[in-house]
Amino acid sequence: MAKKLCKLAKNDRLDKIAERARSGDYICSKCGRTASKKKYLCKAVAVEDL
Ligand SMILES: [Zn+2]
Repeated sequence: MAKKLCKLAKNDRLDKIAERARSGDYICSKCGRTASKKKYLCKAVAVEDL
């Protein structure tokens, strides 16, 4: 099961999170985090759709 970045932020290292957030193709509409993959976010929306 994929971990969500939103949750990951609480117990994982920042450099790991930054690595996934760097490309930022998706943003979580619930908590405002960005990620390269939809599955990392709880309410992901594609940045290009906004
Ligand atoms: Zn979220």
